[in-house]
Amino acid sequence: MRRIVVVSNRVMDLRKAAQAGGVAVAIADVFRTRKGAGEAEVKMTRSAGNALATLPLTAEEHSDYYLGYSNSVLWPVFHNRLDLARFDAGFYTRYMSVNERFARALRTLIQPDDIIWIHDYHLIPLGSLLRRAGVTNPIGFFLHIPVPPSQTFLAIPEYRALACALTAYDLVGLQTQADVANLIQFFEDSVAGRILQDGRVAAFDRRLAIESFPVGIDPDSFARASPQKASAQSIDGAQRIIGVDRLDYSKGLPQKFQAFGHFLEKHAEYRRNVVLTQFAPPTRESVEAYTDIRQQLEALSGKINGMFGELDWVPIHYIYRSAPRDRLRDIYRSSRIGFFTPLRDGMNLVSKEYIASQDPDDPGVPILSRFAGAAEQLVDALIVNPYNIDEMADALRAALVMDRSERIERYNRLMSVIRTCDSAAWAASFLATLEAAANERSHVAEPLAPSIRASMAKLARTPLAPVGLKLGRSSSKGAGPRRGASHHE
Ligand code: UDP
Repeated sequence: MRRIVVVSNRVMDLRKAAQAGGVAVAIADVFRTRKGAGEAEVKMTRSAGNALATLPLTAEEHSDYYLGYSNSVLWPVFHNRLDLARFDAGFYTRYMSVNERFARALRTLIQPDDIIWIHDYHLIPLGSLLRRAGVTNPIGFFLHIPVPPSQTFLAIPEYRALACALTAYDLVGLQTQADVANLIQFFEDSVAGRILQDGRVAAFDRRLAIESFPVGIDPDSFARASPQKASAQSIDGAQRIIGVDRLDYSKGLPQKFQAFGHFLEKHAEYRRNVVLTQFAPPTRESVEAYTDIRQQLEALSGKINGMFGELDWVPIHYIYRSAPRDRLRDIYRSSRIGFFTPLRDGMNLVSKEYIASQDPDDPGVPILSRFAGAAEQLVDALIVNPYNIDEMADALRAALVMDRSERIERYNRLMSVIRTCDSAAWAASFLATLEAAANERSHVAEPLAPSIRASMAKLARTPLAPVGLKLGRSSSKGAGPRRGASHHE
């Protein structure tokens, strides 16, 4: 079996997969299902046949590459928050220099038969830098965050360089069909890219496949949830509504708290009978945009608890810390509603984890934002508009009154999607599509190259030939001219 080289910004100890966040968990599953190789250079540690390599960042790199370009330009813009983007001079230069360092380190680890799988927005240029260094292996890229509408993407000053870098990949994988449509539109609008008959996109004299591969979870690891363990933290018969979101402006937490407050106002009979438990572990605290959201939430939870709380009932349990995933699993199982209402989210794995943790005979109800990638698959959740406070309050009520047979029917349909599209299927289908796309590239390049070379030699010998043979310009990545395409930007 070919070695898979998985590259991501953040590494994890594979033995501690249960502690990790979305991207890292998904990657851990790749290692479980295929033999892998690690993430960049320097320190190599071996665990269960996998090699893990890391590349530490300097303080300046962390500031300008990670907090700067990655999380103050790409993250806000890709989550439709142009207002929060900071296009500071110097961020992009550092973003490129860190990617170049990754490319140099990685180059020395790559073997001829390796398949290279690069993850997420921190490393968009890495594939093109590897190609420039002579790497001809299959290289795929998966973006875990959403793709914004083309007009929003175009606001990034370096949009053209990013578009060009993406074309170095054999395959770009995205979370949803909507993301695929946005990226294709962006190629059309920004660099006159065009869709070929086989569905691939041609731009900068290259072709790339763009497809959706919704990230899944390992449902069996959540089916072991134990509600007894969670109810050690008693809420005296009140029904729990659970939320688990990193403290990020994309997660719609203020709107969620407002909707819960509005629900208590509108349906006084539920006061004392429900509790919202919200885990909101902090992230990227040194990015300015993240300090506001924390203050906003503290004020809102204080206001709602002050307005509705009683001596023996606090409506919002707001926990500003992370919880281990096996603990979350028990809490999910003991919660009547899973409340997942991001304003924008690549996938939203926690909604899938909540569903997989439920008791099949008495499942809870997920409420899910239409702007989470997961909404494209989890159509049997209660789908809401997270900007519509009243609609979210109504969904809380609908979930609380939903009878058991409807909850079971919805749960069964949701679980069938979650089981079919689990994390192993996600990795397997991405890698199979990547191998096929790379094969296609070499098949196109190799048989045609000699004939084209012969034609060019013939042309060179007959300089007065009236009509030139129209050739696609050769790819700078060594793939050679491509069959039948008259490429343009
Ligand atoms: N998570 C966790 N503890 C927490 C909060 C989150 O282990 O306190 C995990 C959660 O179980 C999920 C991941 O982090 O696997 C979050 O992924 P998601 O796609 O929901 O959001 P992201 O954080 O990637 O935006």
